Amino acid sequence: MSTMNEIYTTLGISPAVYEYGEKILAGLKERFERIDETAEYNQLKVINAMQKARVSAECFNTSTGYGYNDIGRDTLEQVYAETFHTEDALVRPQITCGTHALALALSANLRPGDEMLSISGKPYDTLEEVIGIRPSCGSLAEYGITYAQVELLEDGNFDYEAIKNAIRPQTRLIEIQRSKGYLTRPTLSVTQIGEAIAFVKKLRPDIIVMVDNCYGEFVERLEPSDFGADMIVGSLIKNPGGGLAPIGGYIAGTKECVERAAYRLTSPGLGKEVGASLGVMQSFYQGFFLAPTVTASALKGAIFAANIYESLGFKVIPNATEERHDIIQAIEFGFPEGLTSFCEGIQFAAPVDSYVTPEPWAMPGYDSDVIMAAGAFVQGSSIELSADGPLKAPYAAYFQGGLTWPHAKLGILKSLQRLYEKGYVKW
Ligand SMILES: *Cc1c(COP(=O)(O)O)cnc(C)c1O
Repeated sequence: MSTMNEIYTTLGISPAVYEYGEKILAGLKERFERIDETAEYNQLKVINAMQKARVSAECFNTSTGYGYNDIGRDTLEQVYAETFHTEDALVRPQITCGTHALALALSANLRPGDEMLSISGKPYDTLEEVIGIRPSCGSLAEYGITYAQVELLEDGNFDYEAIKNAIRPQTRLIEIQRSKGYLTRPTLSVTQIGEAIAFVKKLRPDIIVMVDNCYGEFVERLEPSDFGADMIVGSLIKNPGGGLAPIGGYIAGTKECVERAAYRLTSPGLGKEVGASLGVMQSFYQGFFLAPTVTASALKGAIFAANIYESLGFKVIPNATEERHDIIQAIEFGFPEGLTSFCEGIQFAAPVDSYVTPEPWAMPGYDSDVIMAAGAFVQGSSIELSADGPLKAPYAAYFQGGLTWPHAKLGILKSLQRLYEKGYVKW
């Protein structure tokens, strides 16, 4: 016999836990179908872009040195621009991570005396030093670029009155962060972002609108660039890299904004013309090709986790039934062992490093110990199944990723098994 139950037993999932999972899953069929439809739409969007850009086997060749006339690199940038409906794009292994892509987009498009305005409240942690909210060497503040911020309303929507009042003559760039990141506010939908862009552009068409698109790509059919964002920015070790890109970031947007970013990334005068692709092109293309279905797998995992843990009485953000606009799931355990057991389960389900037990440690930049679970092919990749959380109240685990739905499912069942065995949950 080779039943599903048996193979799960082999992997340490007891029949009680497996059956509980199946019961929850039975109620999620329709939602999963809608996720598959979004993936289908986005898959076709990407294929169409690849065909229009005439991607060929030659595009996977490598370049070294200056990288002049690298057809693979140039064509890939066309594919991104075509997919996100922008004039141009910069997609490079020389952009080291999401923070770097955002710092690049900002520093390239702001000049001394300009003001940057965030209209979605506090930006992602790592941007605090980029902007100079927390003083740092090389921050925008050091270059005489000022910063202002408008909080979101209580209900998570944009505060239009406050935005209008915060826009000053020197306001040059407005930042909108799509994903909640690791805050507990709701994630913004693309429609909501579109409304805010229209509002800003009506008041001041000259203001550049940049969207931090991290964790949002391919979750919906449209992207903020479909609603007039001048730049959307993200990391290739999240959604658009499809788990295959070993490094990289992207900026897709208007010709002018992308050009300025290219001059800043390489050098004035050189811009997009240089930058060897160093053998990563095939993984960039193939990862982007897989990204819509990979994102769908991660979304299913997030929804499954929300439904399991909400049914057991834990607070989950977003809740079990909410519409999704990014792939992050938070689960508040309320006690430290809940958080650590959850992370252990995720680690034990990994294809890589499944035999290690994650331990809380004092990570630089945090005021409490942090526990992290990741058994990833690409180090630090958060499109791969991963979880982490600070060891302090409310003992929330932040969970994201899953290159395939069966792996995301196993991870969540493994976490449940762990909590079940220790007697922290029962049904
Ligand atoms: C991950 C993330 C970033 C930063 O990306 P890194 O690759 O970790 O530097 C910025 N903004 C948001 C919303 C993110 O989720």
